[in-house]
Amino acid sequence: MLPPERLDRFARHIVLPEIGGAGQAALTQASVALIGLGGIGSPALQYLAGAGIGRLVLVDDDRVDGSNLQRQTIYTERDVGHGKTVAAHRWLDNFDRELTVSIRDDRLTPSNAAELLANADLVLDGCDNFATRLAVSDACVAQRIPLLSAAVGRFQGQVGAFAGHLPDQPCYRCYVGDAFDAEDCDTCAEDGVLGAMAGWVGCFAAMQAVRVLLAMSGTGGMGDAQWGKLHLLDGLAPSMRTLTIARDPGCRSCGGAAG
Ligand SMILES: [Zn+2]
Repeated sequence: MLPPERLDRFARHIVLPEIGGAGQAALTQASVALIGLGGIGSPALQYLAGAGIGRLVLVDDDRVDGSNLQRQTIYTERDVGHGKTVAAHRWLDNFDRELTVSIRDDRLTPSNAAELLANADLVLDGCDNFATRLAVSDACVAQRIPLLSAAVGRFQGQVGAFAGHLPDQPCYRCYVGDAFDAEDCDTCAEDGVLGAMAGWVGCFAAMQAVRVLLAMSGTGGMGDAQWGKLHLLDGLAPSMRTLTIARDPGCRSCGGAAG
C-alpha cells in the first residue's frame, strides 16, 4: 500500500479502473532502463517519472547541444555543454525525489549491456543510432527482458514491443534484419525532425511502457502487451497504423534462443 502523499500524487491514475491501486503499486515497483535521452527519451522520461516508475536507469553518452532544445524537453539553455545523464538526473531530482535513479554516461555496447540492463523489467530504447538499437535488442533477448523500441525521423515515427526471449515472439532484429536501416534516425541531423513529432513518439512509447508493465504485473488493465506489434505514426496525415512483425526462424539473435 502506498503512503498517503503518494496516493494523492497518483490519484488520477488510481481512479482509472484500468490501473487502480494495484496497478499503481506495480508501476511503483517497476524498473525501466531508458536508452537514449534525446527527442524520444526526454518526453518518455517525463511521463515514466510522472507515472511513478520506481526505478529508472538512464544511459546516454551525449552532451546537450543547443540544437537539441527544439525537441529534447527536459533540457534548458543552462544544460548546454553538460552531460545528458547528469542533466536528466537533475530534472528528476527536482521532479520526484522518491524515485530511484541511476545514470551511466556511456554508450550501450554488447560488452556493457548485461551490466547496464541488470534487473530491468523493461527497456525503452529511444537512441539515435542503429548499432546501439541492435546491441540493445540482442542484450534484451539474452537477458530475457522485454523491449520497447522507438524511432523518429522527419514526420514519421515507430514504436514496437518485442519479447524475443519468449517462444514464437519476434525480436527487433527479426524486424530489421542485419543490414543497415537507412530510415533510422542515424540520418536525423541531415533529414530533420519536427520537435512535436518526437514528442508524440516519446509520449506514446511511455504509454506503451505502462501498458507492458501492467500486463506483466498481472494487474491489468490496458490490455495485452502487444508483443510483435509495430505502431507507425504519421505526423503529416496524421494517422497511425499497426504492423505485426513475424519471428524470423533464422534470426541470429532470437532464432535459436527459445521456441
Ligand atoms: Zn529475432
